[in-house]
Amino acid sequence: MAAPRFWREIMNRYNLIGTKCGNCNKIMFPPRYICPHCRRMGKLEPFKLSRRGKIVTYSIVRVGAGGLEEQVPYVLAIVELDDGPRLTTQIADCNPEEVKIDDEVELAFRRLGEDGKDGVIYYGFKFKRINKSQVAQL
Ligand code: ZN
Repeated sequence: MAAPRFWREIMNRYNLIGTKCGNCNKIMFPPRYICPHCRRMGKLEPFKLSRRGKIVTYSIVRVGAGGLEEQVPYVLAIVELDDGPRLTTQIADCNPEEVKIDDEVELAFRRLGEDGKDGVIYYGFKFKRINKSQVAQL
């Protein structure tokens, strides 16, 4: 695959693209064809979502599903983005015991796993907690 196309696809995955309804202005993720709020079709436009949000609730996974055995324990959280939509995501780079509800998080691009048969490594989004001392420096 040519490098420019490869990087374009990476960036598309690295940004969260949802949809915004042109009728009622609600923002949703994953993208929809019919607005679940006002039931209109054809008014939905792609919308680049905020890369930041906060943890609404979470659980610590100690028994990994197929392909995730090596990653346990890990945190699976419901994150509410600054734009409003909620999504389920893994929280990367953290000590599961330190995660708290309302922790601020941001989008992170991470290795998700490996296809065992041909060894292809695949990537996608997770979220990571925003270091409070880093925030103070901004
Ligand atoms: Zn709508």
